[in-house]
Amino acid sequence: MLSEFDLIKRYFARHSILDSRIALGIGDDCALLNPSPGMQLAISSDMLVSGRHFFPDADPYTLGHKCLAVNLSDLAAMGAAPMAFTLALSLPEANPGWLAEFSRGLLALADEHGCHLIGGDTTKGPLNICITIFGELPPGTALRRDAAKAGDDIWVSGTLGDARLALAGYWNEVRLSTSEHQLAATRMHQPIPRIALGMALRGIAHAALDISDGLAGDLGHILEKSSVGATLFVDRLPAGPVLHKQSRDLRRQFTLNGGDDYELCFTAPASCRQDVQTAAAQASTTVTHIGQIVAETGLRLLDEQGQAVSLQYKSFDHFAHP
Ligand code: ADP
Ligand code: MG
Repeated sequence: MLSEFDLIKRYFARHSILDSRIALGIGDDCALLNPSPGMQLAISSDMLVSGRHFFPDADPYTLGHKCLAVNLSDLAAMGAAPMAFTLALSLPEANPGWLAEFSRGLLALADEHGCHLIGGDTTKGPLNICITIFGELPPGTALRRDAAKAGDDIWVSGTLGDARLALAGYWNEVRLSTSEHQLAATRMHQPIPRIALGMALRGIAHAALDISDGLAGDLGHILEKSSVGATLFVDRLPAGPVLHKQSRDLRRQFTLNGGDDYELCFTAPASCRQDVQTAAAQASTTVTHIGQIVAETGLRLLDEQGQAVSLQYKSFDHFAHP
């Protein structure tokens, strides 16, 4: 039987961290961080609960990836550079096979982004994974939700809706071939945090957030915080490669309301269109111009002919779905 300390040592502690910003990592009462001179810290936590955010039998490698990816995505949405994270883990049992795969998926993504595991807590209990992540950025450059301005273009990175389509496949709401379902499921289980894009948009974008609960609902947070409204062209929303082949109604529904894509939605002045495209190219990410911020509050949906589209748009609310 693994002790708590053996478990941390075997699966999570690294011998040395070659990053001058990490003064002390795992092993003491606290970790110690030295943010780069003049930089501001960006901090965020996300908790993933078994049966709520992932299936209890979820593949541990992709689960490790996803837990960190959703936290990195929050840094991306602020334009912050990753530094470090802590991991609070509640486990029903110390299963070596599960822990090896979980830590492999988690630390592979951590390495990809130079984001170091510096501490945490481990306890026995229902499977529950909580990560707190630390990033840094120059003061005054954060891409905040309250910074959208009337006249801004609205953009979205990558594609939307395939994660939601994967769920529809699991629930037999939609018939997909095995290969289509696998492709869509990869979007759901292994989201790509848009770190490079977020950083490249500093000084260009006004407001930004990452889409976890659906574009319509999440954009609503920017509109509310910025006291503005928006017009979205629903048929410009970039559908994922699998969703792309579905009916127009399903495309509209899932690109607007599908959660779990972790793409960035951001606003930028219309005068910065070229800068946005250059930032996207630098970050090797596609971006699509999907609408405009307007002074009148509320969200209006239009088709390509400029006709109003009435769609019941609603994002995922954990307390509305018991
Ligand atoms: P404390 O008694 O101060 O809570 P612990 O005994 O829980 O300390 O943890 C010992 C060390 O291991 C600490 O540095 C803590 O941050 C780290 N640690 C505990 N659990 C994890 C984990 N799941 N991942 C990474 N580090 C962890
Ligand atoms: Mg502890």
